[in-house]
Amino acid sequence: MAPPATSAAEDDLPPLDRTGEAARDAMVSDFLAGLDPKETARRLIAELEAEVARLESAAPPPKPLACKAGCAWCCHQGVDVTLPEASLIAAWLDKSVPPAERRRLVAAVRDVAARSRGLTPVERQRAAIPCAFLKADGACGIYAVRPLLCRAALATDAERCRRAFVGGEPGTEETWREPAAHAKQLVLGTAAGYRLATGSRGVYELHALLAAVFDKVDGAAGA
Ligand code: SF4
Repeated sequence: MAPPATSAAEDDLPPLDRTGEAARDAMVSDFLAGLDPKETARRLIAELEAEVARLESAAPPPKPLACKAGCAWCCHQGVDVTLPEASLIAAWLDKSVPPAERRRLVAAVRDVAARSRGLTPVERQRAAIPCAFLKADGACGIYAVRPLLCRAALATDAERCRRAFVGGEPGTEETWREPAAHAKQLVLGTAAGYRLATGSRGVYELHALLAAVFDKVDGAAGA
């Protein structure tokens, strides 16, 4: 099986700051302790949510957030996830989604992975391919276990999101930067820790990684 695509070349990844270094070290500790990767993902989610709560008083967004139920322009881009996050999502789908709906989602994930293959992040955004988990009403179909970078995608101008993510103007969105920066360091640091512990890269595009996980899990089940 070919390794899943990533959204950036390894050399292009930004350096770790203190948050990233702490996430790297925590990932190595989790691995050496034999912690279930799903628990690592839950730890990361709790850490991000605590940081967003802290920022709300310490460094609030410059304008009121525009994010609300049903607004999903930002769900038309590639999303980087770590292996622990993918593990949590795959397990949640197995446990919480009826078999027929799971089969539909698996097919949708594979379809998006195929349509996105080989695209740069900007090309992927210009293509405006909706996330496989985006529901017709604009809700996230895996809200409870959604990726860190989705949780931290907080914007202050919905029209600029529309233009950036489905209007062919990538990079023009207006966001609350601090949560996104923190989430990115958690992702990069966790990936770096995974790489140190296992030798394999720990960050991949959401659909590419899940498609590979489904191939492995469903292939084993059918063997
Ligand atoms: S996982 Fe959920 S929040 Fe993230 S891009 Fe997909 S639909 Fe949107």
